[in-house]
Amino acid sequence: MSRREDLARSLDAVRERLAAACRSAGRDPGEVRLLAVTKTFPAADVALLVDLGLTGFGESRDQEAGPKAAELAELRPAAPVGWEMVGRLQRNKSRSVARWAAAVQSVDSPRLADALARAVGAARDAGERTTELAVLLQVSLDGDPARGGCLPADVPALAERVAGTPGLDLRGVMGIAPLDVDPEPAFAALSQVASRVHEDHPGAVEISAGMSGDLEAAVRHGSTCVRVGTALLGGRPLASP
Ligand SMILES: *Cc1c(COP(=O)(O)O)cnc(C)c1O
Repeated sequence: MSRREDLARSLDAVRERLAAACRSAGRDPGEVRLLAVTKTFPAADVALLVDLGLTGFGESRDQEAGPKAAELAELRPAAPVGWEMVGRLQRNKSRSVARWAAAVQSVDSPRLADALARAVGAARDAGERTTELAVLLQVSLDGDPARGGCLPADVPALAERVAGTPGLDLRGVMGIAPLDVDPEPAFAALSQVASRVHEDHPGAVEISAGMSGDLEAAVRHGSTCVRVGTALLGGRPLASP
């Protein structure tokens, strides 16, 4: 089987899973977007996914994503793609991320938000981007913010800060369910935080939740964006972020 056929098949399977999850949750499949997480996979794979109709791609390392986005722009110059940073981000990478990312889903501190806002300003001044940066606040769902994400109790204040920062467009929240345990309580907690943020900021409608292994549970709890890597592209080397 060619790589294209391979990807077409797994994309069909993921779309079927999503459709089934939406059906059983009584939700409209149009409410849940599919973000293909392409970390560790080459731009050639992204190009094939573009040909198959995908437009949103997630990456977790700036060093890998910047060159990949540039390569894709050469492979598929006309494609309307949006790259989203989903991994942990150090502030000193903000300037680089502002060149390639339409969105950052992993904002978890006021300092990172401020660094990104400055970077967006600089990128605009340099003619490297025209749009604001869409921002999701990453919420820690395992009680251990050392692994990324801010504590649920700190989210409303961070939301206020991002919403008031020029260059940033607060769109919602993101969460990663803890490994090896039932993801339902984590997604339920994320959904509560999301409602609170949405009450305060009506434009913040996004709940990014669910990956290859737990997208059904995430859809039950209101996910509007599933981030799928393995189920689409296959296994990654174990040490990948
Ligand atoms: C790698 C990654 C994913 C995709 O995970 P899979 O289990 O391969 O679908 C989703 N979200 C984040 C933040 C990731 O780093």
